[in-house]
Amino acid sequence: MTEQTVAIVGFGTAGVNAAIALRGAGYEGRIVAITRGPAVPYSPILTSYYAGGQKSFEECFPWTAEEIDCLNVDIIEHCEVDSIDVNARCLRTSRGDFAYDKCLIATGSDPVTRGFPQVEGFEPLTLRSMEDAERLKRVAEDPACKRVLVSGASMVALKTLEACVLRGLEVTLVGMMPHVLDMNALPVAAERFERGLSNMGVALKLGTTIASVEVISDAEGFEGRRLEVTFANGDVERFDHISVAHGMRSNLGFIPQGALEIDRALLVDPYMRTSDPHVYAAGDVAQALELISGERSIVGIWKNAAVQGACAGRAIVYELASREIPESFAYVGSISTNTIVVGDLLFISAGTIKLTDARRVEVREDDDMLVAHIYEGSRLVGFNLVCDNTSARGVAYDTGGMLTIRIIGGLAGARP
Ligand SMILES: Cc1cc2nc3c(=O)[nH]c(=O)nc-3n(C[C@H](O)[C@H](O)[C@H](O)COP(=O)(O)OP(=O)(O)OC[C@H]3O[C@@H](n4cnc5c(N)ncnc54)[C@H](O)[C@@H]3O)c2cc1C
Repeated sequence: MTEQTVAIVGFGTAGVNAAIALRGAGYEGRIVAITRGPAVPYSPILTSYYAGGQKSFEECFPWTAEEIDCLNVDIIEHCEVDSIDVNARCLRTSRGDFAYDKCLIATGSDPVTRGFPQVEGFEPLTLRSMEDAERLKRVAEDPACKRVLVSGASMVALKTLEACVLRGLEVTLVGMMPHVLDMNALPVAAERFERGLSNMGVALKLGTTIASVEVISDAEGFEGRRLEVTFANGDVERFDHISVAHGMRSNLGFIPQGALEIDRALLVDPYMRTSDPHVYAAGDVAQALELISGERSIVGIWKNAAVQGACAGRAIVYELASREIPESFAYVGSISTNTIVVGDLLFISAGTIKLTDARRVEVREDDDMLVAHIYEGSRLVGFNLVCDNTSARGVAYDTGGMLTIRIIGGLAGARP
């Protein structure tokens, strides 16, 4: 009998956790991982901390080379999968084709710069890879760089902003929406967070966008030039650099149209199986059960990617052995959670901020903290917490933890 092959496309947290689960469940066949990234993956979560000087380069790698070696995976690093042929069960790359019996797609997502105008001779900063973090770090450390514009107002943009603030740069944030964190924060919480940013010296330009950027030669400026930005509201200002984070997009470009069922990402069942019986998906590319809506959606956080990768790995072992996958292996589902820190400011959220006729908001606010609760009947379905007092941090984290547990606890009673 020929040896079976499991192929993993993308070796980030979902991919690595799948390999750990495959070996943990006794799979002894070949695992090949083809990844655009390095063989020993870094954590995207930590890239901004590296750029901001809070973490060393080495600390950005959750696994050691020895730990990855133990998994006995053939890793084809710095190699992009160009296409998947689900009928031939084959992955096409510039380094050749890779046949598989089962394939896990775990290619994550990249921040997008959509909407940023093309600028001749200038490439904005983005934040995803260690190379991006290295570039941001170099810019932020250079004494000639004084003013940075951050375009975008969600997690990656705020993490970039934090790195720049920590490096002592003068930062302006421009966001299309009237408030920061529009995907995760109610206006009342966003406003308190924005006040905190302003108190920190961050200039906010909300409800507008970058209309155009002109590169102006200036021997005194960073790298011999300044960037003249015209905003959609007519303001004109000069900056030394610009960082762009206009949302995230799942990396699915290598999947031919119609080959797999895709909504916003790959639709998966409770065992992370896609519409093709031999292809699984996990992490930022998977649209799996979200517990509050009861629908399948992308909840792009590290922990979900890890749990989903492990879930896929275990299911693959059973399917390769033609055994029924135990129900207990099913993905339990997730809720959205976020924690963002900028200097003294802390934002924590979990659950949903989507308001319906059946939902109401209760806000409790004092000098240290604002907590907005979102209730459906008596059930807590979401919360926002903003703390702008460093000494109350411990209480804020505990409160956030307890409220998250309350949301999860409430779900048990809410679903049949
Ligand atoms: C700057 C930043 C900060 C973040 N902060 C947080 C946070 O604080 N908390 C949190 O929970 N989450 C955070 N996230 C999200 C979290 O990092 C992701 O949810 C998680 O890394 C997803 O894991 P993954 O395995 O699905 O994808 P990834 O970790 O992105 O790994 C995917 C891998 O696939 C590779 N790849 C892509 N396309 C191809 C291809 N065609 N062929 C081969 N390989 C390919 C990629 O290069 C990458 O190596 C952050 C993300 C970013 C970018």
